[in-house]
Amino acid sequence: MTREPDDSSKQLAQRVGATASLCEVASTEQLSTSIYQVALRGNAATLAGTPGNDVMIRLEDAKGRHVRRRYSVRDLDVAADEFTLWITIDHEGPGSVWVKKAQPGDLVDVIGPRGKIPLDPSADWHLFVGDASGLAAFYRMAQSIEVPSRAIFIVEIDADDDALSAPFDEGLDVTGIFIDRQQRSTSDPLGLLRGLAAFALPPGAGHAYLFGEFHVMRVLQSSLLDRGLEPEQISHKAFWRSGQSNAEHGEPDKLED
Ligand SMILES: Cc1cc2nc3c(=O)[nH]c(=O)nc-3n(C[C@H](O)[C@H](O)[C@H](O)COP(=O)(O)OP(=O)(O)OC[C@H]3O[C@@H](n4cnc5c(N)ncnc54)[C@H](O)[C@@H]3O)c2cc1C
Repeated sequence: MTREPDDSSKQLAQRVGATASLCEVASTEQLSTSIYQVALRGNAATLAGTPGNDVMIRLEDAKGRHVRRRYSVRDLDVAADEFTLWITIDHEGPGSVWVKKAQPGDLVDVIGPRGKIPLDPSADWHLFVGDASGLAAFYRMAQSIEVPSRAIFIVEIDADDDALSAPFDEGLDVTGIFIDRQQRSTSDPLGLLRGLAAFALPPGAGHAYLFGEFHVMRVLQSSLLDRGLEPEQISHKAFWRSGQSNAEHGEPDKLED
């Protein structure tokens, strides 16, 4: 068996200035109703990059076509040469199907590190807003905040047990607000807008990180601008788009409806 990533992965990695590696599934675990954790082994420190970075994995869709999917790195264990991803499974697509079936020893092509949204080290506070697909990035980024500081999480979830927690430094003042989607459409921003409206932004210059569904992220960005944040205080990224599969390269379609 070849122990090299596919040529297409090597070429893509070269184009985007990243590294392609063949990783081995070390373990998988269902953490909650909607979230699976997978640990991948191999070239971990390089692929995982810095907090906020993600990796691109090469999978097959239901028709056997190769597609790539992007997942934020949740955690890095340099000694074990492993990194973990938190993958949402409350929908059906190549990514969610793959993680539910993945077995220790399976091999997968990984390109990393990807992503251009790092933590803003100059911010007085950090506001993380989105859905369960953003949790891995939110928690890894928040764990890298220099203390004393403040982190606020406003996250919409579909099941109570998706309100996963993480250990943080004692000097980090943490506020976590989990909002029950209550059967609203996945493109409906109402839940997160209400969560934001109920929260008084702390004094000082903060930074907001918005990761989640395409339509919801756009509305949240406008809402935060209306609340007085400057554009450079907001980093936002559409991770997926309601009703549409992400494209072959792992990004949601950005065209207007
Ligand atoms: C930079 C980046 C980082 C990302 N990090 C993560 C991460 O850490 N964890 C994570 O779970 N996802 C993450 N995503 C999103 C993930 O790559 C996409 O959700 C991906 O489309 C899922 O692939 P899939 O093959 O399972 O479903 P797809 O084939 O893309 O979609 C199938 C259907 O499922 C719907 N769908 C897709 N994702 C969701 C969802 N989360 N909730 C409800 N419905 C959905 C789609 O609208 C579509 O109708 C990230 C995306 C980007 C661009």
